[in-house]
Amino acid sequence: MRKGFTIVIYTFFPPLWYSVLEEFAVRLVCLDLEGVLVPEIWIAFSEVTGIPEFRRTTRDEPDYDKLMRFRIELLREHNLKLADIQKVIGGMDVLEGAMDFVRSLRERTQFVILSDTFEQFARPLMAKLGYPTLFCNTIETSACGSVSGYRLRQQNGKKHAVAAFKTLNFKVFAAGDSFNDLAMIEEADSGCLFRAPDAIRKDYAHLPCADSYGDLMGEIDVFLGS
Ligand SMILES: [Mg+2]
Repeated sequence: MRKGFTIVIYTFFPPLWYSVLEEFAVRLVCLDLEGVLVPEIWIAFSEVTGIPEFRRTTRDEPDYDKLMRFRIELLREHNLKLADIQKVIGGMDVLEGAMDFVRSLRERTQFVILSDTFEQFARPLMAKLGYPTLFCNTIETSACGSVSGYRLRQQNGKKHAVAAFKTLNFKVFAAGDSFNDLAMIEEADSGCLFRAPDAIRKDYAHLPCADSYGDLMGEIDVFLGS
């Protein structure tokens, strides 16, 4: 009797379904990696090698494929291999306060890192963050260890991941610092920029920008309480 009544109610009053789904939606936080939890890997590599052209990042170049082809050509010109990049990454630390922020975030909710970096780059830094979930890409190397290319899991992977989480009835908050985070943030239910350069802040003035982990957690707390 009770089951039949429920079916009738949900069949003839679909908005009730929506309210139930809304009620059960689980909050999920998606964060960019470089510039948010760890320093920019290519900038660190530029400083160690003394080659200024490696400083160019997704904060400067919106076209990711163009940027990666530029980097791979530069590596080839200077005869630098994947092992040279990994050596620099091995000496890097996460951003000051990032470990405490991640620990505190995990106490509050689930979170996933959506990054355009490569699994071969990220591993040592993930160890320092306690191995959070990371979706990223793969670098390709030739037999001699030179970087020959890269493999994207999919085009616009950050945005597609957020869209997919939403179909699983997650309410998603996203934050990042670069051009390659904008589609993910706009796709999410809520989000903000984090320490973004002036050009992005100016063009995306409708997005709040956090400049400290305290401010970022404040934005997340508002989302979690909404
Ligand atoms: Mg970034």
